[in-house]
Amino acid sequence: MKSSESEISEAKPVPAQPAGHAVVIAIDGTSGSGKSTVAKALARHFGFVHVDTGAMYRAVTWHCLQRGVDCNDAAAVERAMAGMQSEFRLSNGRIVMFIHGADPGEALRSEAVTQNVSLVARIPEVRAWLVEQQRGLLRFGSLVMEGRDIGSVVFPDTPFKFYVDADPAERAARRAGDGYTDQVTRRDRLDSTRAVSPLVAAPGAFFVDTSKNTPQQTAALVLAELKRRGL
Ligand code: C5P
Repeated sequence: MKSSESEISEAKPVPAQPAGHAVVIAIDGTSGSGKSTVAKALARHFGFVHVDTGAMYRAVTWHCLQRGVDCNDAAAVERAMAGMQSEFRLSNGRIVMFIHGADPGEALRSEAVTQNVSLVARIPEVRAWLVEQQRGLLRFGSLVMEGRDIGSVVFPDTPFKFYVDADPAERAARRAGDGYTDQVTRRDRLDSTRAVSPLVAAPGAFFVDTSKNTPQQTAALVLAELKRRGL
């Protein structure tokens, strides 16, 4: 795997493309459900741009923590976000959010960011701003976008919606297997009970339980459903 430094040097701003025929595949679901693995496989298969919206909420959180902001203090988070310079670039088929000219890279997966991100993500102003940015990414072409509210809020009109879930014990084990300490059930509770855009299966979303599936089996299931839906 490449270091974030080499990815930064390869990343170039891409000219805007007409979004006329661009389509969006929306992948929502719980933490550690395997939605990233599905999203990456689909992006490769179709040649679409992969967008991890969780990384954007993590980037705002990282920026706040860098500045010593208490993520429970919504007004302070909003102020920090207002002073944040950000830019979205296409790098190796995926969107990277640069903050003040740098890709935070692996720092986005740090324990501090993971513990605070759901606090930041429940602030309506943060969500409104990020949703606007996410919609704007259609300028890069067709997207596979993963998150919690893509099919319900960001692109509710797309016919290609999936909701990915797995047994909580299995999800915690996957995160631990990836080398991360992550209280997935705490984050799921915060994400599902917040007032604005809670984690829900969007109307029309195809439900995928990955508990007993290999990534290949899940990808095959999703591809078959996309074909059935006309993609
Ligand atoms: O996907 P990931 O686990 O990296 O997401 C981190 C956090 O970002 C989630 O727990 C959730 O609080 C927030 N999030 C969100 N809406 C999205 C994507 C992520 O609220 N579309």
